[in-house]
Amino acid sequence: MGLIVQKFGGSSVANAERVMNVAKIVTDTYKQGNDVVVVVSAQGDTTDDLIAKAKEINENATKREMDMLLASGEQISIALLAMAIQSMGFPVISLLGWQAGFSTNSVYSAARIRKINTDRLKMELGNKKIVVVAGFQGLNDKEDITTLGRGGSDTSAVAIASALQADKCQIFTDVDGVYTADPRKVKNAKKLQEITYDEMLELATLGAQVLNNRSVEMAKKYNVELEVISSLNPIPGTIVKEVAKMEKMLVRGVTKDTDVARISIVGLTDVPGIAFKIFSKLAAKDINVDIILQSVGRNNTKDIAFTVSKDNAPVAIQALRDLPFVDEDLPIECDTDVAKVSVVGAGMETHPGTASKMFEALYNNDINIQMISTSEIKISVLIDAKDADKAVIAVHDAFLGA
Ligand code: ASP
Ligand code: MG
Repeated sequence: MGLIVQKFGGSSVANAERVMNVAKIVTDTYKQGNDVVVVVSAQGDTTDDLIAKAKEINENATKREMDMLLASGEQISIALLAMAIQSMGFPVISLLGWQAGFSTNSVYSAARIRKINTDRLKMELGNKKIVVVAGFQGLNDKEDITTLGRGGSDTSAVAIASALQADKCQIFTDVDGVYTADPRKVKNAKKLQEITYDEMLELATLGAQVLNNRSVEMAKKYNVELEVISSLNPIPGTIVKEVAKMEKMLVRGVTKDTDVARISIVGLTDVPGIAFKIFSKLAAKDINVDIILQSVGRNNTKDIAFTVSKDNAPVAIQALRDLPFVDEDLPIECDTDVAKVSVVGAGMETHPGTASKMFEALYNNDINIQMISTSEIKISVLIDAKDADKAVIAVHDAFLGA
């Protein structure tokens, strides 16, 4: 018995039958004597559909109006789920983000939660109600609706779990846990019993779709233990926590990310300050740069290449063109047919040879590496997009068994 936060993603509430299924899970938890707060996302592809609707009318709508529109998806879900729970005879109330006390900053469509005023939540729980909260949204200082960025409902759930000091935070989804690779692509992918916050954060950032990376960041910061679990298959999921059982694994997962563009500038003058000027310019445009490669200088010139997300590529190129030392005839290349494949594992920190094993697996499959980047617990390579699936399978086989 305790306080349990349960979050259900869009696929888990996609239609009436799924909503009833969620109501069953929630009310079963309540029947066991728990207080339950449920966080839901918009049904199925609702958010994408709303974005498409907006584009039909105005390609350049302000982010404020986009948030006003997108927040409506979650409003539908909370009302429907509350109705489903009522139909089963349980006390329930649905709340929008602001009603549940979510204050955020004013970065529309990528707002950060500032604080949760838990008075209303506590009052409703005190009245023994099941509380259903709209994920992904809050209210800024101007009392405007904001949203937290795509996939933001995970973060809403973790924030509530932390604010209410919940005993458990369960993230229900359409897969039954975190796997060593995408099980739809890699046949021998294995489900993990446990994974550390740091590993999960890398996996989430490097392309695993299962949890939003900001939610993992927040869970780590406030030490909220998460369980990733299936809403359709009632078996134990994967626990995300500070220290996880190693299960004798050097590598915990292999991911691919195809939302990558590689930009290179060839023949820059080799003087101090060039890298600083390039990357501060990109930072000023809010562009996140991932892998960076600078060549050894020759004949007083050097080359710099880096990766950004695909939608940031045009802005990045324009920003480079605006730099005084980037002459008009200096070539800037942009390759979007690339993918990043990564291995992640806390174990590699203490085990030499992880990189060479990964590179060997790629070499054995005739896959050329364009760029490499490493941290203590991950190694990423940039390769041709067409090789990405083959690379994931090869690298997964090398570390996690055929
Ligand atoms: N409905 C929002 C989205 O699709 C938020 C979420 O699903 O977490 O991005
Ligand atoms: Mg969604």
